[in-house]
Amino acid sequence: PRNLTEMLRTVVERSPDGEALVELGGERVTYRQLWDRAARVAGGLRSAGVQPGDRVANRLPNGNDWVYAFWGTLLAGGVVVPVNTRFAEPEVRYVVEDSGAVFVCEPGAPLPDGEPLETTDQQHTDLAGIFYTSGTTGFPKGAMTTHENFLSNIETCLRCLDLGREPRTTLISVPLFHVTGCNSQLLVVTALAGKSVIMPAFEVSVFLRAIEDERVDVLTTVPAIYWLALQQPGFADVDTSSVVSLSYGGAPIAPDLVHRIQQAFPTARVGNGFGLTETSSVSTYLPHEDAAEHADSVGYPAPVVDVRLDSPDPDSGVGELLIRGPHVVAGYWRKPEQTAETFVDGWLHSGDLARIDDDGRVYVVDRKKDMINRGGENVYCVEVENALAAHPAVGEVAVIGVADSMMGEKVGAVVVPLPGRTLEAAELVTFARERLADFKVPQFVDIRTEPLPRNPGGKVLKPSLREGTDWQPVR
Ligand code: ATP
Repeated sequence: PRNLTEMLRTVVERSPDGEALVELGGERVTYRQLWDRAARVAGGLRSAGVQPGDRVANRLPNGNDWVYAFWGTLLAGGVVVPVNTRFAEPEVRYVVEDSGAVFVCEPGAPLPDGEPLETTDQQHTDLAGIFYTSGTTGFPKGAMTTHENFLSNIETCLRCLDLGREPRTTLISVPLFHVTGCNSQLLVVTALAGKSVIMPAFEVSVFLRAIEDERVDVLTTVPAIYWLALQQPGFADVDTSSVVSLSYGGAPIAPDLVHRIQQAFPTARVGNGFGLTETSSVSTYLPHEDAAEHADSVGYPAPVVDVRLDSPDPDSGVGELLIRGPHVVAGYWRKPEQTAETFVDGWLHSGDLARIDDDGRVYVVDRKKDMINRGGENVYCVEVENALAAHPAVGEVAVIGVADSMMGEKVGAVVVPLPGRTLEAAELVTFARERLADFKVPQFVDIRTEPLPRNPGGKVLKPSLREGTDWQPVR
């Protein structure tokens, strides 16, 4: 297809009566019903003044209405602006104003409704969506995602996950306003005329029941959700035999958790997907064959993707990961300076530090902004986190720099023990010493009982973690 709306039209023609959406606790709709509903939303938007190229903000929570608003905007020729539902009012206002949205789909308000309107003549290079980055490392920036960007990510997912062309069933447990939920789940399964089961809110028991009840075969979510699922009493009684493809991504995963996932889902091919909002989702994928042995890797560049490292360090081989391909977005909306800094000669500067092994596997070792510089020695947080996560009593762990007048920064670890387990800082550090070079071993530990603060994409919010730490010096 030339664009997303043409893709949907083809799917509706192929499978009008196939189930498209299942909102848990809500409606089940077919592709024909989805199209009709979206076309009416498009008509309503047009009556409200939305013209081709206009932005429409979508503040709705996960559910079928979110999807109607998405397709309705496109069928009106508009540009979708998904809004993070956790944003506070000033952040929402920022996104609405920054994007110049002419209409906002608000929760609680009825969706626009009008005479059906079916615009499907968008060009490949036309803007289709503006996804705001989650703001983990700064103010949200709008990633300008074209129809081509969306379509290329769909193709990447189909090929990397080896999904074939038959309809599939996925369970959407992450927010639709992020690229993983929208681009790598909803749209991929839509391309196959498959069924998207949408969770309006996350709850682990509902997640597990849905896998069984809906016979989910393609499972994609963030590491934190797999971790919760495996912790759930009664997990062993859940029938997961329908799952043939399982992916994790969006945040670093500890190799220990990968191994537990593989044991828990023996019928699935498992793999790690790495990407950014700026790459419309997936850039590299670690396939099943490598998942166990190279669990600390994010895998190989997707078929149409090029990667390289910017000035790698001669000793460690670590440099900033640069990415190029048809999935790299067209820049940041109305931010020419940041666009020029981040998108250089066709290469996206990912802000991630990585190394690449002789077989071409990529290892993301840290985010540039999180890396700890301990008196000139670089400490990559992910490596330390993975080592600590292997301790049998550790539930969650995040490593951050602790300001130090002599060293600049020292290594600190915030740790949450598994339920019912206790943990001593000294014991954890002894464990770390056996596995890590001396300078990487945490010198400060903060053992907490509350879960670590995370964004809806499962990433630990390191800036808020820094507030209120209760460090115990350990050597
Ligand atoms: P902001 O740019 O506003 O800080 P963000 O970067 O958190 O927001 P995303 O685009 O959702 O927003 O996140 C992309 C980042 O997530 C990547 O740069 C990388 O650090 C991390 N990431 C994604 N997938 C993986 C993965 N499979 N393994 C490790 N890290 C990952």
